[in-house]
Amino acid sequence: MQSIEQLRGKLLQQRRTLFQEVAQVEDDLLWLEMDVEPEAQERGQDESLIRLLSRMDDRQKAEIEEIDRALVKIAIGTYGRCEVCGKPIPWSRLEALPTAATCLPCAERRAR
Ligand SMILES: [Zn+2]
Repeated sequence: MQSIEQLRGKLLQQRRTLFQEVAQVEDDLLWLEMDVEPEAQERGQDESLIRLLSRMDDRQKAEIEEIDRALVKIAIGTYGRCEVCGKPIPWSRLEALPTAATCLPCAERRAR
């Protein structure tokens, strides 16, 4: 059983790995060393972030968006709740997929 802090750490790590895939110059890597909070990002996307995002393909961008959404939900306290039915998402699902926004039954209904 993991704590929400551990899942948060996992999400931040995933986010960093994605950015590292497209980081090329030293400036970008320096920027990655900072612990960027989603709130800080909303205040003003700095140049490094915009540059990195511009190098990402759609899949990578979609992943970053999912991670950021999950991080915001952790910050505001709604993390772990299904966006469709509002029920708590089982921990086992969150551990396997920390970006999960819906419970499994809802995800399956949506996929159909
Ligand atoms: Zn649901």
